[in-house]
Amino acid sequence: MRIGYGFDSHEFRPGIALKIGGITLAHDRGLGGHSDGDVLLHAITDALLGAIAAPDIGALFPPSDAKWKGADSVIFLREALKRVRDAGYGVANLDASLILAAPKIGPHAAAIQTRVAELLGVHCDCVGLKAKTPEGLNLDNAAVAHVVVLLEKSPKPRKAVRRKKK
Ligand SMILES: [Zn+2]
Repeated sequence: MRIGYGFDSHEFRPGIALKIGGITLAHDRGLGGHSDGDVLLHAITDALLGAIAAPDIGALFPPSDAKWKGADSVIFLREALKRVRDAGYGVANLDASLILAAPKIGPHAAAIQTRVAELLGVHCDCVGLKAKTPEGLNLDNAAVAHVVVLLEKSPKPRKAVRRKKK
């Protein structure tokens, strides 16, 4: 088994869409960043990469590369998941904490949980999602995500299975 941890934060800015966990939420501001600013998917991506000691999201998708400007963060997550599978692991479960003052995550939690589970190819009950407000942190204009992920060795690495079929 392997454990991975990911952290990310982005600042709220007016005039852009708010994306969290691959879902677009109705809000007057979005999260600024070079890509679509999806703080949760970035933290999940880094947790997956960290679990297999791979280079982090900033090394694989450098903000200096114009290619990733406004990019859908699902691309980053898929690459991390591919590396996890190629290394012979699968996701056992994931637990995430989101810290933001607004909007309220409660009404969207099930949709985010479902989307993240779908992206990771795991059951919904393998994705924990908690949302908190930044009490006493003076972080009302930012969104923060912390994620831990547990990987387990796959019975048969994906690559080996593919080779046998040829
Ligand atoms: Zn980020």
